[in-house]
Amino acid sequence: MQVREVLREKGVVGAGGAGFPTYAKLKQEGIDYYIANGAECEPLLDVSKEIMARFPDRIVKALSILKDFTGAGSAVIALKGKYKQAVKALNEELSKTKLNIRLFEIGDFYPAGDEQIMVFEVTGEVVPEGGIPLAVGAIVNNIETLYNVYEAIEEDTPVIQKFITVGGQVENPITLKVPIGTTVGWLLDFLGVDYKDKVIVDGGPMMGKIVDLNSPITKVTGGLLIFPKHHPAVSVKESDLNRILRLAKIACIQCRYCTMQCPRYLLGHDLEPSKIMLSVGFNLTDGYIKQAMLCCECGLCEAYSCPQQLSPRRVNMTIKSELAKAGFKYATEKTYFNPRESRQWRKIPTNRLKVRLKLMEFDRPAFLVDGDFVKPPEVHIPMKQHIGAPAVPVVSVGDRVTKFQVVGRVPEDKLGCNIHASIDGTVVHCDGHKIVIRGEDVK
Ligand code: SF4
Ligand code: SF4
Repeated sequence: MQVREVLREKGVVGAGGAGFPTYAKLKQEGIDYYIANGAECEPLLDVSKEIMARFPDRIVKALSILKDFTGAGSAVIALKGKYKQAVKALNEELSKTKLNIRLFEIGDFYPAGDEQIMVFEVTGEVVPEGGIPLAVGAIVNNIETLYNVYEAIEEDTPVIQKFITVGGQVENPITLKVPIGTTVGWLLDFLGVDYKDKVIVDGGPMMGKIVDLNSPITKVTGGLLIFPKHHPAVSVKESDLNRILRLAKIACIQCRYCTMQCPRYLLGHDLEPSKIMLSVGFNLTDGYIKQAMLCCECGLCEAYSCPQQLSPRRVNMTIKSELAKAGFKYATEKTYFNPRESRQWRKIPTNRLKVRLKLMEFDRPAFLVDGDFVKPPEVHIPMKQHIGAPAVPVVSVGDRVTKFQVVGRVPEDKLGCNIHASIDGTVVHCDGHKIVIRGEDVK
């Protein structure tokens, strides 16, 4: 099988949160840069850093396979210079293998790991508005995605586990591997985490979303962070949307801080959240609303910039979802984008963000404890864990399945990836949305 088919068959998708099927990124013409994104800019999450430090051989090998497959002119592992262990491990691996791959040390600012920011930092080219890195000859994969590429191609192993950091207000932050479909509640009980009267966030404090105990770990779960109720890292996430929209109308003072610090605006894109807020507030039809489509939802405006505690991010997310439902596609005639001059002094240092969000007390390393010691009695596996068409179940209630077996397939002509059983057991529930597998030892 060719690289693309293997990755589709083995269910490899962007593990950094996007869930874009990896095979679909692999063009074989005009690729100048293949970039491994190891910046992991969300505070408190340590997955990429730990994988790079512990498995540098797998990351380098996967990157070299994809570089060769795509014919990319160069391959780069971009990570923060402060990840000393990871830098050391990767440098040692690269000097052993003598592959044509280099490290690129990126600054410690937020959101350094945003795909378009990363491409600009490494290549000096701005991805056009509404475009993807391929538009400037770059392909970007997150570090865990590359780990999964290695497993799929070199070990014939599909994606059935997810590396996550469990952190925040916990006694011992940890990074570990969890079978896909494990429920949040079972995992936190297994780890002895006290979540009573607390908020659980899937992902980082900036872009993560509040989840409940029944939510499953998926191929794109960023981590689980526990916060006290009403903590600054979760207060906007807890707010109801109507309140946010009402406040957007009455409390925006048009100071423009959100625009001046917006990373996409600073890249030269026509995204001015302050103008969107004005349009929303006064029901204006002045063309600014559609700019919301350019928002990457990084959350800087709501968590850091706005002195009124408003959320241009949530407003943009709402507009994006409405425009997408109406079939709107963002288009521009501009072909060249110049970063704003102020970009160089407006990058937000991660530490300043941590102080603002009162995260310093939770900022402890979450070292990776490797091994298959997480054994849930039951897994709830969603059929849609990626961008594209959902997988269609190929098993039925009562079927016995084994770990690694395909349980959901995406039709050949559709974008998407297979889904596999993450434990041995019996299918006890199966519909178009999810498959529940109960382990052998459970009555
Ligand atoms: S979330 Fe806010 S700061 Fe981030 S890209 Fe969107 S508008 Fe800009
Ligand atoms: S930072 Fe807040 S108050 Fe200022 S323009 Fe943006 S949304 Fe309005």
